[in-house]
Amino acid sequence: MSIIYDAAIIGGGVCGAAAAYRLSRYDVKTILLEKESDVSFGVSKANSGIVHGGFHYSAQRTLKGRLEIRGNLMYDQWHQELDFAFKRCGILIAAFKPEQMEEIRRLYEQGVENNVPGIELCTRERMLALEPKLSETVCGGLHAPGGGVVEPYSLVFSLAEAAQLNGVELKTRFKTVSAVNTGDYWEIGSESGEKVQARYVINAAGLFADEVSKVFGGEEFVISPRKGEEYLLDRLSPARPEKVIFPVPDEHTKGVLVIPTAGGTTMIGPTAQITGDKTDNATTDLNKKSIFALAKNMVSGVSEKDLITSFSGSRPVIEGKEDFLIQISDKAPRFIQCAGIQSPGLTSAPAIAELLCQLLQEAGLFLQEKTTPFILPEKVPAIREVTAEEADKLFQKDPAWTHIICRCEKVSEAEIRLAIRKGHTTLDGVKLATRAGMGRCQSGFCSLEIMKLIAEETGTPLAEIIKRESAGTIVTGCLGGEKK
Ligand SMILES: Cc1cc2nc3c(=O)[nH]c(=O)nc-3n(C[C@H](O)[C@H](O)[C@H](O)COP(=O)(O)OP(=O)(O)OC[C@H]3O[C@@H](n4cnc5c(N)ncnc54)[C@H](O)[C@@H]3O)c2cc1C
Repeated sequence: MSIIYDAAIIGGGVCGAAAAYRLSRYDVKTILLEKESDVSFGVSKANSGIVHGGFHYSAQRTLKGRLEIRGNLMYDQWHQELDFAFKRCGILIAAFKPEQMEEIRRLYEQGVENNVPGIELCTRERMLALEPKLSETVCGGLHAPGGGVVEPYSLVFSLAEAAQLNGVELKTRFKTVSAVNTGDYWEIGSESGEKVQARYVINAAGLFADEVSKVFGGEEFVISPRKGEEYLLDRLSPARPEKVIFPVPDEHTKGVLVIPTAGGTTMIGPTAQITGDKTDNATTDLNKKSIFALAKNMVSGVSEKDLITSFSGSRPVIEGKEDFLIQISDKAPRFIQCAGIQSPGLTSAPAIAELLCQLLQEAGLFLQEKTTPFILPEKVPAIREVTAEEADKLFQKDPAWTHIICRCEKVSEAEIRLAIRKGHTTLDGVKLATRAGMGRCQSGFCSLEIMKLIAEETGTPLAEIIKRESAGTIVTGCLGGEKK
């Protein structure tokens, strides 16, 4: 007889994975359904990676403001438990014209009202002392020491891994296309004809949450993608600041930022552009020019010669609603909406997961904490970060720890093999799990080596190894039939 899960979560982005992780503490059977070949291949892989400070939105008047400040505070616990890069480096909002100080004061007062720890209104001198990389033309600003940076994909991978260690099932390549309410449970159908049965369902499908809601007969809304382009600079760029630098925001966007990423590089962006196309992930020369100009205005060391790559992601914004939609559906039974998770969705994720569990309980799912010990994932050392003595110890255990495959980001064979064994079996999956291929040469030198390791670990012929689902295979021809 097939299993009837207590809860099915549709979408393995940061929201779905966070909900799975939280649910794995309870005595319920949970399944996470993801249409791609790995988790974190949606919006959660293509963002600015900032744990926002909690002052951009009112916590009293908006759900995203409330969840942002709570989520920010919950990151320390996640960081203790899970294996991902995170740093509370602090956030600055910089004003470059005296008339912008009015908006700075408004944000400061909103931050105070939201109880943002340590928020500070700053003079020009204080701003320059806090961040020497800031342009001399700054005239004042705001400092939120509790803001920070996070590596979003390693966070999602770690959440999903921990959830699985504690009993959650993950089904990738499961694109939800149908749902039948039998009265007691939902029968959820995939594009390839698989069926999963679950009593309660969470819709965390990101850009496609409107389509999933329709499948379940839930609320009708339209997700309008708001695209953001990001430009990544080499880890040696002299522009890398200590703190995240924001300009004064406008009505729709927080503006173009200079970000010291949690992975050690510098990033500038994003734009904010309504595109109408959920699959559009192009970047343009025009936007590149304007992003560089805006970033140089804040940090003069920003230079196009340090650019190593660009990417874009789209914020899943509900048309006509500038807030998250997280609620028990009024239309579909035992169906919880987690939609419209635009920025600050990454920051809010721990609090979103907490709220989703409360809503499941309100909807009737009994959540009792497990009595069995909770298992945390092992923290995998990154060879580029360890001391020479630690590297030597790892080498004694296995020489693969010091066999460097990705020279730009200094990633070892052992790290890559571990990632593959954890289920990251595409080139992009390995890249996001280990940073192999993220550096200056953008995988020009290491792709084939990584593919050979994937082939060896999984037994997949080289010609069948994919970059990621939508990007297809990489090699053709004489290597096609080889097992290695
Ligand atoms: C440019 C940019 C910058 C941003 N910067 C920040 C930031 O600095 N800080 C911050 O807090 N937030 C930021 N955000 C917002 C943040 O990235 C999102 O709020 C968050 O990633 C949304 O996560 P999610 O899990 O809801 O969606 P996703 O990560 O998109 O996850 C949804 C998942 O559902 C899957 N799916 C879709 N349809 C189906 C289906 N039918 N069946 C099965 N699976 C399905 C998708 O493949 C995907 O994996 C930014 C966003 C963008 C675009």
